[in-house]
Amino acid sequence: MAGCSEFENTTMNPLHAFTVNGRTYQPPQRPVVGICLDGSADEYFDAALDRGRMPHLQKMAVHGFRGLARGQMPSFTNVNNASIVTGVPPAVHGIGGNYFYDPALDREVMTNGASFLRVPTIFPAAQRAGRRVAVVTAKDKLRDMFGSGLIPLGGIAFSSEKAAQVSRSVHGIGQVEALVGPAPAIYSGEASLYVLRAGVRFVEEGMADFLYLSTTDYMQHKHAPEDPAALDFYAGIDELLGRLVALGAVVGITADHGMNAKQRADGSPNVFYLESQLNEQFGPGFRVILPITDPYVVHHGALGSFAQVHLPPGQPELLTAVMDYIRALPGVTEALDQATAARLMELPPDRMGDVVVCSGRNVVIGRTPEYHDLKVLHEGLRSHGGRYEEMVPFVFSAPLKAEYAAQAQGDPRNFDLFDFLCNGTRA
Ligand SMILES: [Zn+2]
Repeated sequence: MAGCSEFENTTMNPLHAFTVNGRTYQPPQRPVVGICLDGSADEYFDAALDRGRMPHLQKMAVHGFRGLARGQMPSFTNVNNASIVTGVPPAVHGIGGNYFYDPALDREVMTNGASFLRVPTIFPAAQRAGRRVAVVTAKDKLRDMFGSGLIPLGGIAFSSEKAAQVSRSVHGIGQVEALVGPAPAIYSGEASLYVLRAGVRFVEEGMADFLYLSTTDYMQHKHAPEDPAALDFYAGIDELLGRLVALGAVVGITADHGMNAKQRADGSPNVFYLESQLNEQFGPGFRVILPITDPYVVHHGALGSFAQVHLPPGQPELLTAVMDYIRALPGVTEALDQATAARLMELPPDRMGDVVVCSGRNVVIGRTPEYHDLKVLHEGLRSHGGRYEEMVPFVFSAPLKAEYAAQAQGDPRNFDLFDFLCNGTRA
């Protein structure tokens, strides 16, 4: 590949491998950049490539690798980011949604802190192995998880959302805006471009050589792949991908989940209210948890294609009838009991309901009509969470070794990103 001679021709000491959560990583000496383009269904790449808006991605596809990987169910942000940074499924790392109900505490709990993660991320180990690690995310909600254990070792972790408020003690860097520019608004495409721009600046300045850049899906929630605003956004991403490759980095791209329109022909949200329907059909006491729920509801009104149903306390005998009822509802694709869902979706049973429900490509599951503020969705509803957002892009700037090329034809997972980057590319 052009632009990497500086690294290709250098003889380096044998590199320090490191092992985390049962997987060993042997990164190449050159900068390693893993990117999670939040909400990037492959259709976004196709639309931009078809129109010549992503020439650098096109080069990566030709000279490196472009395929698909299976993400983690439910196809939500925290679940998949947690998997990508740990290299293991939620059954191991513990985060099966943005949100879960804790029966012991009788509380609904947000899982956006490092304390919910049951295993370490790969980043402290990479830093200990001699890499300079930088982790940049758009929404501050993920920063704590990504930075866990990394900052005391000298790594960097911050969000574009709070780029104006970084400190050396908390984020490992005292000043971001002087390096990257003014912090952007969180509800913008710029919030994501800023993440990649920060990565470019860190590599340019030699401040980091092992990076994870995780964007936000505001643009994908608002815009279909062929919308001019989406095309401009992906062209902006492409320019920064080109700069990373030109700097000699080996770049790997995946996503946490895809994105689909979830509305009726008239543009209204195609939602059914599962908690209301269950309470009406079987009596009160059902609790439906929508693990897409987060503080940033402007994106999606807390409506996604996945739900956890808790039966009324003390009525386990309802299980079979409830599952039969849910399976017969129009728009439902799956209703699985807890043990089956935990096995098939590799989820942590202690943070699940009694029944897991998924809905179709253009259908979302609500709780009750009062629970959701549909007024925030004035521009239509695009969302995720189900099977139709499970497959995501898997792209590398360098060719894959034969063994990994074969693996990529099987069932690669988005949380194999750093395995492929470190062990699988001919970088
Ligand atoms: Zn996401």
